[in-house]
Order: sequence, then C-alpha cells, then structure tokens
Amino acid sequence: MISIDGSLGEGGGQILRSSLTLAMVTGKPFAIENIRVGREKPGLMRQHLTAVKAAALICGAETRHAEIGSTRLVFEPGRLAAGAHVFNIGSAGSTSLVLQTLLLPLALADEPSRIVIQGGTHNLAAPPFEFMARAFLPLLARIGFRVSIRLTRPGFFPAGGGEIVVEIEPAAKLEPLALETRGKLLRRRIEAQVANLPFGIAKREVAHAGEMLRWADAELAPCQIDGAPSTGNVVLIEVEHEMVTEVFTGFGRQGVSAEAVAASAAREARDYLAGAHVIGPHLADQLLLPMALGAGGRFTTSPLSEHTRTNIATIQRFLDVSVQVHSETEEFVVELGAAL
Ligand code: ATP
Repeated sequence: MISIDGSLGEGGGQILRSSLTLAMVTGKPFAIENIRVGREKPGLMRQHLTAVKAAALICGAETRHAEIGSTRLVFEPGRLAAGAHVFNIGSAGSTSLVLQTLLLPLALADEPSRIVIQGGTHNLAAPPFEFMARAFLPLLARIGFRVSIRLTRPGFFPAGGGEIVVEIEPAAKLEPLALETRGKLLRRRIEAQVANLPFGIAKREVAHAGEMLRWADAELAPCQIDGAPSTGNVVLIEVEHEMVTEVFTGFGRQGVSAEAVAASAAREARDYLAGAHVIGPHLADQLLLPMALGAGGRFTTSPLSEHTRTNIATIQRFLDVSVQVHSETEEFVVELGAAL
C-alpha cells in the first residue's frame, strides 16, 4: 500500500486526484492522510469526493473514509473498465478537474467511454472548459490520447450547474511529446464571455485587455453566452502557435471590476509572450501525468510552480519514471522518461 501525505508541497486536491489516476492505471492501492489540511475548508470537498467515487466506480475500487470533509482515504483499485457514466458534482466544483482524474485511465482501457460531468465549467483556480478544449486536449491528442469534449451547458462560478460531455476512444500508439519551440504565431484572441449580465462588461474587458496587450480590434471578441443557469463572466486570452495553444483566464466575480478581471488574464498572456518557453505554468503541471503514462518527452517552461513540483513527487510515488529538470537562465526544461 502506497502511503501519501496530502499536506506535502502544494498540499491541495491535485495530490489526491493524481493518486487516484495513478492507482486506477497501475492497480496499486494507496492510503492518503492530511488531505487539504492547510485549506480553509480542509478535507474532501464535493469535487474531490465526486472524483473519488467516479474513480472507484470505473475501476471497481474498495474505498474507506470517502466522505465530505474527510482528511484521509484508502483506495484499493480493482479492474479498470470503460463505460458510459453520468457524474453530478452537485455544486460548482470543477468538471475539468474531475475529468482530468478519469480521462487517462479511460483512454488506456480497451473500449470507448462516454462520460457526462455536471458542475462548474468556469471556476476560480481550475481549468475552464476552453483551456481543456483548446490547450490541454490537443496536446494529449499528440501523445495519442483521443478525447473529444463538448460544453452542453455553461456553469459559471460560484453557482455552477453546467455540463460537459466527453467521448474517450482507446489510445492510439503513444508518442513522446517534444515541446521545445513554439513555432510561428498563428492567432491571438481576447474573448470575454458574459452570461445573464450586461454585454457592456464584456466590451469593457476586451477593450482593457486589448489596450494592455496592444492588440488589434479584430482580435477582440466580446460574447453573450446563452443557456447558463446563473450569471457568469470570464476573460479568455488565447495565444495559438504552431506547436501549442495557451489559454490565460481571468474569472469575473462580485466586487472585482471588469478591468481588473481583464488585467489578470492580460498580465499572464503578456508574461508568456515576453518569454520563449513553450508551456505556461498550468499546462506544465497538467501535462506531467499524460506524459508519464504516455511515452515521456520534454518541454520548456517558466520557473516550476509548487503544483508542478508536487505533481512530479506524487507521480514518482507510483511510477518508476525519471524526471529531470534543467534550468537554463529563466527557461526550465522538464524531461520525462516513460513509465509503461
Ligand atoms: P485546493 O487547492 O483547494 O485543494 P483543488 O482541488 O481545486 O484545490 P488544486 O490542487 O489547486 O485544486 O489544482 C488546481 C488545478 O487547476 C491545477 O492543475 C492548476 O494548474 C489548474 N488551474 C488553476 N487555474 C487555472 C487556469 N486559470 N487555467 C488552467 N488551469 C488552471
């Protein structure tokens, strides 16, 4: 039984989610303690518990202490099986993070799967739907993981109530991912979405981010979003190069001006464009698992975040992969061997 201390490093939900994914794929049981103990509301929140229960269902696992607020969990996986499932987080918990827990095990199964996840699709501190669709999944496709995703109902923070539908085919031949240069810049776009809020907010946001980045009017896209059960606002700045698309996000919330929401996304995009590294900080921590379970590879990135360092340590508890980090001036190179 692998024993994990959930308070190490970043100390958040990702340690649990990565452990679930790795246990599902390797069949290795684990016991985790101190889950999210340093957080304001410690232990398993609805998003984490949904990931635990969904993971257990998909691989026939026995679990202990799987309840809201629990700071420990025992997870003993059985046999992994593809299938069709609906998982309802029952709050605005992030559908993307639940999907990330399940996606690789299902892609490594022999049959296709179809999963529907209900909850938040645009949440503070989680990958928004567009990041998954435009940045993360296209890189997974290059490794050989065949996943398509649709937003059937947007669910904005803090109310949630959204839905994504995901089709997962058995993986093709797995290839190493090599991301050392961005390639030519193909497209830039500042999209501001408002749901059940005045369109003027989206117009102010694209104008402000456009001014900060000095981008042309043709690159600004204010959008009114239909079908969301609540109010919502998000700014998504997309930078598409030949080898990679990055999506930088500002999440609208009460008490924060449209300009401040736009500025937080614009600053991230500006920092990325000022460097030469291929992978931004969020993709960096999220690509480690697909690369470790795929065929390895290497990417250049900005200085490693605590999420990235902690995820490397978690992966190495389950898999015999070599991970090397070289830093050349401000640019970091992360190199992974393949595990399977
Ligand atoms: P907690 O920190 O409260 O335990 P959690 O379980 O929701 O939270 P974390 O462990 O913090 O989650 O992991 C959050 C994940 O979401 C990380 O992979 C991080 O890179 C990703 N993420 C956060 N913000 C963004 C964003 N704007 N775009 C893409 N990914 C994001």
